[in-house]
Order: sequence, then structure tokens, then C-alpha cells
Amino acid sequence: MNILERYHAMEYGPAPEARNEADAWLAGRDFSKALFIDGAWRAASGGKTFETSEPSSGKLLAKVSDAGAADMDAAVAAAAKALPKWSASSGYQRAKVLYAIGRAMQRHQRLFAVLETIDNGKPIRESRDIDVPLAIRHFIHHAGWAQALDKDFPGHKGVGVVGQIIPWNFPLLMLAWKIAPALAAGCTVVLKPAEFTPLTSILFAEICERAGVPKGVVNIVQGGPEAGGAIVNHPGIQKIAFTGSSEVGKIIRKATAGSGKKLSLELGGKSAFIVFEDADLDSAVEGLVDGIWFNQGQVCCAGSRLLVQEGIAEALIAKVKTRMSRLRVGSPLDKNTDIGPLVDATQLDRVKGLVAEGARQGAVCWQPDAALPSSGYYHLPTLATGVSPANILAQEEVFGPVLATMTFRNTEEAIELANNTRYGLAASVWSENVNLALHVAPQLKAGVVWVNGTNMFDAACGFGGYRESGFGREGGREGMFEYLAAKLPLGPAIKPATISAQPVEQADGSAIDRTAKLFIGGKQVRPDGNYSLAVATAKGKLAGEVGFGNRKDIRDAVSAARACKAWPEATAYNRSQVLYYLAENLSGRAGEFAARLTELTGATPKAAREEVDQSIERLFLYAGLADKFEGRVHQPPARAVTLALHEPIGVVGIVAPNTSPLLGLISLIAPALAMGNTVVAVPSERYPLLATDLYQVIEYSDVPAGAINIVTGRTAELAGVLAKHDDVDGLWVFADAETCAKAEASSIGNLKRVWSGNGRSLDWASDEAAGDALLRRAIEVKNVWVPYGD
Ligand code: NAD
Repeated sequence: MNILERYHAMEYGPAPEARNEADAWLAGRDFSKALFIDGAWRAASGGKTFETSEPSSGKLLAKVSDAGAADMDAAVAAAAKALPKWSASSGYQRAKVLYAIGRAMQRHQRLFAVLETIDNGKPIRESRDIDVPLAIRHFIHHAGWAQALDKDFPGHKGVGVVGQIIPWNFPLLMLAWKIAPALAAGCTVVLKPAEFTPLTSILFAEICERAGVPKGVVNIVQGGPEAGGAIVNHPGIQKIAFTGSSEVGKIIRKATAGSGKKLSLELGGKSAFIVFEDADLDSAVEGLVDGIWFNQGQVCCAGSRLLVQEGIAEALIAKVKTRMSRLRVGSPLDKNTDIGPLVDATQLDRVKGLVAEGARQGAVCWQPDAALPSSGYYHLPTLATGVSPANILAQEEVFGPVLATMTFRNTEEAIELANNTRYGLAASVWSENVNLALHVAPQLKAGVVWVNGTNMFDAACGFGGYRESGFGREGGREGMFEYLAAKLPLGPAIKPATISAQPVEQADGSAIDRTAKLFIGGKQVRPDGNYSLAVATAKGKLAGEVGFGNRKDIRDAVSAARACKAWPEATAYNRSQVLYYLAENLSGRAGEFAARLTELTGATPKAAREEVDQSIERLFLYAGLADKFEGRVHQPPARAVTLALHEPIGVVGIVAPNTSPLLGLISLIAPALAMGNTVVAVPSERYPLLATDLYQVIEYSDVPAGAINIVTGRTAELAGVLAKHDDVDGLWVFADAETCAKAEASSIGNLKRVWSGNGRSLDWASDEAAGDALLRRAIEVKNVWVPYGD
């Protein structure tokens, strides 16, 4: 073939990356001593090992120590021993260590990339150009946070010993996302890598030795689910950070319920890739290559659902097929390879099974006519068309190179289809019309939205999901909060409510009998069961009766809260005015509320008046902050700006405490409302009349119907119903310890965000129990990436 013929054929020659350094490293290590605990290398105490093999050939790479519970005890003990000194060291000291880690990784960048590719199967282009540089950036970026801690996070300190569990799809990058912020915050860590991909974490531990990380600050313990379980259930750990499947995330949520452990879950996804008819189709096709075929589709935020506007569907699909035919499937160490093997035979079987089931359910699955290498766990890129929204390929996370396609007619339909999933991790919006893209982005229930782009990440920009994609963020300022504890002043322990045990003397007939109803959808309504509960005064006399709300009433209240669009869609200024008006109207009846407090709680008139005044002040505070607790704009090292928007969580259930019954209730409802959430509140079981007295104040304050709903009744029962309700997005529970623990355990259906006092109240009158600390709980941070330039 002459040069001209070669040029026209455009054939690629093999361009293999050298692996001798990696092989030498593999040959030189004793993997039977692969647990890095207290700065030393240890074998598993039970002597067990597991095998890690090369996905492109199936060949054994190493037999690695498999930790048991005793090893985890040793790792946690080492982390606890190292904690006091590390957390007390200066931000500058910690910054120097983080920087040294980043620099040492830079010096071994190529070895990291080759090892990652050998162990995971991802194309070397990706590990070399994306995984490893981004991991390094995380350490260097977080060196800065270590030093900025006191200034940027006043009133916060590191949570303590952190247990971290990561998956196999980005082994080094996920390690960096976990360890960098933890060290910056002054925490010490016990990290468990995934059992398919232990190698780069072992190299990373070597880097820690060389970079001067103090002994015990970073402990890396190899193993599988059992080792993971030992971390989750370990009493010496104060926070669990997990990245992995939604299924295991739910197990962890349940296992940590009531333990007081801080928890962040970065889970699966089924992200929409939305192409409008005015999109640049060629760019969108290249975006798709990055969106679904990056890392063989084994990406939590893979754009696995292509939603395309009807008029351009045929043209786009044709372009996608042409491009798919040119994707090069082969050795991941070849620099020209686009698609390598899946991580393991089990993963390959799973993907094949889902594709077969999708086809059985009516999808037409197309693959390019390409040969697969003779060994290894390869799967051809696959395009599924004719996919109904209920098809398994549209609903389940495949975690493989499989794209499910659906069409839409207009913008509303696109948004509806995009949100038709139990996940909420990411989405891409393709349109040359920036007005349209920025109109759609906030309406997508996803933690990250890329406009005319996909799979962009940066250490300065938060990443994380909504709904069953988990909660918490990694990266940026919001990621730092995951490793910090606010010093909230605790109030007294909350005892289980005992209203039924209270002897209530009958009324003497001097007052007009009143039974408070429930407040749902802007109206006072009778409870479904038509029962009421007697409420006693401090002296044990009958103060009145309130509706005995049940499951059905909570359901109605949640529907009303969900249906209320006027509140989340109102401008922040608008919300602020309504909150001011609430304060004004409460102030007009301050004397009446103070008298009620005295009557019910026995508080002195002075203390009661103080609580009412503080409640009014709280409303004023949140009215003022409603239009000030805003997001940020990041400038990542890319031609893009990232808008970190503060969005309401959605429908928030609030179970209010007995202590400071008016101030406690208002201290919780007001920040939730200020950020645009709608609320279903269960007031204190002992003093519900303070909440029912608020109905009229609410009615006179221009609060849209459904923005505030109040259901009185038994705290434990109603908290349980709210926790299990899949249309409640967030739940704040200040009740006895058992009710709090049960609420956390029952929240796994939709993985709602639960903020629990763990059986303790807060000192509601203190300044720390107001302002940003609560507003932060009332929002999700959505990062919208907007590229610029031609
Ligand atoms: P997985 O949930 O099976 O395993 C993840 C980790 O948890 C592994 O280290 C595993 O050993 C451990 N583990 C398994 N069972 C456990 C248990 N019962 N208790 C404690 N630990 C346990 O997930 P995977 O197959 O390794 O990874 C793929 C999943 O990870 C996908 O669902 C993907 O979407 C998700 N993921 C999410 C993100 C994100 O940021 N949201 C990033 C990468 C991957």
C-alpha cells in the first residue's frame, strides 16, 4: 500500500502503551500483605486473599489480602489514634501533606494510568488523560480547602474517623474524591476499595508513605462486601461515605439508622441525554460518545437514555450508527482504543442479560458489525431503539455500553421523560438556544446538568444526586461540608410522647368548646378518621382537642404540598415578603400566643413572651435570608462556567420537637419555606395547639395553598408515615431516639434526605440554631455546566 492509499484507508496501526513498569511493580510486591494500616503493610488476620484479574485477558494479576472484622478494628483504632494530632494540626500543615500527595502522584502519573487500565480494563486514553489527572487535581485543590477551613467554614470541625467505601469503575478517582476532602477537613480515614480493582489504591498507599502522611491518617483496607459491612457497622466511625450501587446504598442507610453516623451516598443513575431539534447534531453525536461509551458505559452518570426530538430522530440515529461503526473496540492498552472490556465476567453477563430482556420487551438492539477480541470481557456498543418508557433498558442502570433511545415532541414532554426515573444523578441538554437549555436545566431532577456537553467534572464543582442516586455532594465547597460537623448547640433529650397517659380533667363549661382541625391545602379540614385527641394544660386540665391525623391525612397533606407550584416557583423576593407578612401577623397576636404557651407548658409569662418574640425574629431572619442564601459560579479549568444553583429539596416533612414548641416549629418551618420547599409539619404531640393556633396567621399571610400543611396526631406514627412516603423528598425529625432511628431506617424507599436530632432537641433560642446551618439543609446544590466559545 502506498502512502496515498494508506491515507485514504485511514487505518490505525497498533499503538500499545508500554506496560513493563507496571509489570515490574506487580512482580515486586507482596500482595498477601496489602492492608495498609497505621502506616504499615499487613496480611489479613484470617490469612484470606481474593484474586484480581485483567479484564482484557482474564489472567490473574494478584492475590490480595482480604480483610476481616479484626483488621477493620485495627484500621479504625489506628485512625482514631491518629485523629487528635491530625485534626489539631494547622490547615497549612495539612495543606502541605495534600499537596505532597498530589505532587507524588504526578511523578508516578503514567504508572497509575497503566495499572488502572490493566486492572479495570478502561482505555489508556481515559485513565491517562482523565482519571489520573483529575485525581491529582482533587488533592491539590483540597490543599487549599485545608488552609481555608477556619475562614470558610466557621463553627465547623472535622467529623472524626471516616469510613469510605468505593466502587471499581473509577478506582483511583473515587479514592481521591473521598480521601482529599476528608484529610482537608482534619478527618482520618479507613478506605475500602472495590475487590475488582485494588491495585491503584495500593500504589496510592505507597505514595502516602513517601509523601509524609502521618501514620494512621490514611488506612487502606482491601476486601469485599464483608469488609465493607465491617466499616459500616463499626462503632468507632463517625461518618460513612459510600459510592456504589443504589441497592447497597439502601442497605447502608438502614444499617446506620439511629447510629448518629453522618452519611453520604453517591449511587447509581439513568441519566438523560436530551437533544432538541436546534442542536448541533455532530457535536451531540460526539457528546454521546463521551456520554455513554466513556469507560464502556460503566459510569454512574452515563447518558444512557437518549431523548431526541421527533423531527430530528431519524437523522440523529443515522449519525449515531455511523459513529458507532467507527468506535474501536480492543486492547485497553492501545492508545487508539475507544472501548475496552467490561470489568469482569459477571458484569458482562449482567449487561448481556439486560440487553436480551430489553429486546424481549420490544426494544430493537443494534450493534456495529465489528469483531471482538478473542479473549476478555468485551461487549459491543449497543443502540436500543423503539424503547418504551417502561422498558427495562429505560429504567434499569445497565452500567455497560448500551444506549436506550426515546423520542419526544415538545419541551414539556422532554422534561417529563427525563424525570421519569427513580434516579437523579445527571443530565445533558443539547440545544443551540441557551434560553431553552437554561429553561430546561432547573426543571430536571438531577444533581448535575451539562449544557451542550457531558461527563465534565472538576474538583471545584460539586457532584452528586437526587432521589435514588443518593445524597451528599463530592467536590467543591458543598463536598467539604460532608466531612465537617456544625457545632449545633444541643437541647435536652426528647422523651417519647405520653399524651395518652395524661389525665385530662373535663372542661368546666366556661369556655366555648373548640376542636382544632388539620390544615391541608390551605384549608382547615377534619381528620380522615374523625377522631380527636385531648390536649392538657400544664395543670392537667383540658385545653382543647386536636384532630387525630392518620396515614390518609399525611397522604393528603403530601399531595397538597406536591401540587403547590406557586411556592417553589415564586421568586425569592416573593417568598421573603410572605415570610415577613407571617412575622407581622404573628406579632399582632403575640400576647395570645404567649398566654397559650403559659397555659400549655407552664412557662412564666416572661419566658413565654420571649419565645414568641424569638419566633417572630426567626421569621424575620429567614424572610431576610430568602433572597440571600444563593449559589455560586465556579470557573473550572475548562471552557465553561459551572452554576452551583441552590434548589429546594421539594416536599419536606417536619416533625417538630416538644421543647420550645412554638420556636422549635417555626425554626424548622421557616428555613424550609425560605428556600422554596413545601412543608408537611407534624407539630409537637404534647403541645399541638400552638400549631393549630397558627392556622389563622397562615391564612392571613398570603401563603399559597399547600405550601404549609399541618397534621396533628401521634408523633411516632406520623413520622413513620412521612418516612415511608416516596413523594416526600426530605424529612427533619426532632423526636425521641426510637422515632428518629425508625424514620431513618424507613426512609430507604426513595432515599429521602433525613435530618434527625437522634433523640435530642436543639437549643432553638441560640444563634447557631438559625441561619445558614439550617438553610443548607433546606437545599440541594445543582451544578449546571455551561460551556462557552465556538
Ligand atoms: P457495589 O454497590 O456492588 O459495590 C460498591 C462497593 O461497596 C464495593 O467496594 C463493594 O465491595 C462494597 N459493598 C458491596 N456490598 C456491601 C455491603 N453490603 N456493605 C458494605 N459495602 C459493600 O457497586 P459496584 O458494582 O462496585 O459499582 C457500581 C455502582 O456504583 C453503580 O451503581 C454506579 O452507578 C455506582 N457509582 C456511583 C458514583 C456516583 O458518584 N454517584 C460513582 C461511581 C459509581
